[in-house]
Amino acid sequence: MQNLSTWLDQHIEVVIENAVAALSENERLKLQVADSVRVFYHALQDSAAQGNLASLVDVLTGWVASRSVTSATLERSESLTSLLATLKAVLWQHILMSSRLHDNVTELLVMSDRLFRDAIDHVANLERQAIVQEMQHQLDQLNARIRTLDQSKSNFIAVAAHELRTPLTLVEGYVDMAASATGVDPETDPFFAGIKSGTHRLRTIIDDIIDVALLDLQMMQFHFQPVWLHQLVRAAHRVVEQQSTERKVTIVVHQTTIPGESTYGDPDRLLQVFTKVLSNAVKYTPDGAQITVQGRALQGFTDIMIRDEGIGIDSAHLAFIFDKFSSVGNASLHSSGKVKFKGGGPGLGLPIAKGILEAHGGTIWAESDGYDEKICPGSTFHLMIPMYIEKPDRPVWAAKPDMHF
Ligand code: ADP
Repeated sequence: MQNLSTWLDQHIEVVIENAVAALSENERLKLQVADSVRVFYHALQDSAAQGNLASLVDVLTGWVASRSVTSATLERSESLTSLLATLKAVLWQHILMSSRLHDNVTELLVMSDRLFRDAIDHVANLERQAIVQEMQHQLDQLNARIRTLDQSKSNFIAVAAHELRTPLTLVEGYVDMAASATGVDPETDPFFAGIKSGTHRLRTIIDDIIDVALLDLQMMQFHFQPVWLHQLVRAAHRVVEQQSTERKVTIVVHQTTIPGESTYGDPDRLLQVFTKVLSNAVKYTPDGAQITVQGRALQGFTDIMIRDEGIGIDSAHLAFIFDKFSSVGNASLHSSGKVKFKGGGPGLGLPIAKGILEAHGGTIWAESDGYDEKICPGSTFHLMIPMYIEKPDRPVWAAKPDMHF
């Protein structure tokens, strides 16, 4: 490369002058680019003398860093690689023009071409990295925005639900007062019973909305204490007994298959899960069918299986039924009753069950051969509950997207 360096010794000023002229027609701009062009060709000369790209790399890295490269910059063909192409064209032009004086033109062209090719590769690489960085920055900003929106949505749900609870409590209070003032039994009188069942349903939905918000915000409180799963299953059975009797659905609990050891969990929250899944089994099972509850001990876990003979679940929906409001799309099935066959609700029960079990370190999933209201292939819900020997310090919350490890 020494030859190129020596050649530049003699010709550098003319090359710089021609390059400045090629890059700018405006006299004022010429002054601005002249310095940079001079620094570049001197670095090229150094690199040629040393036989490596180090000097050029310094200059080019500085150039890329001083520009804010974006994908739009490159789309407008403002890449530094075009600038390098011009600088190379000017150099080659002058090498060829001076060919009469030198017999090593080919060598000079090849040497300079190699340096320019490496320089262009280097710049293209740096620009690509800058674009990736810029995109990453935009992505981070979008993620932060999504997190803020998600947070405000959860906050909104929590505040709205609290605001709804207060007037509901008032209505419930006045209904009781009106019943006692008129000497009517609110449980048997059809008007009072109607209002009471309506307010009760409303309260359940508001409670579910609050639970979803608390789980989303990882703010649900869990009081871990020793729990026995067969007791919880029995308690859940009692809760849905009236519902199953009304629907003539038999619930068979294979108590002996449920391990007798205790684990640690929040009994109220686990009961809520068991009750929800069991009551869904009743809801989506036709009259006269049977539901079985079985347990099996696995390594460190107990799998409580709730199997029904109901309408089943389409394989495409199996993963989504645990998403919030998953049943909203099927508004035709929505029902004001909790008991009615297929009476769909707001689709919050299973997401809450999943959130509670996951906070316990467990999980829930469903299996079904498909959805068919005539054949009724049935569904099996697996509730995986960890068998803790020691009381957990805190619930298990999934890492939030902004946590770094
Ligand atoms: P919903 O309030 O609609 O019952 P869930 O979150 O409890 O909401 O359930 C979500 C959806 O999962 C239901 O709308 C229903 O389509 C389906 N599903 C839940 N349990 C069963 C079951 N045992 N058999 C068939 N489908 C079920």
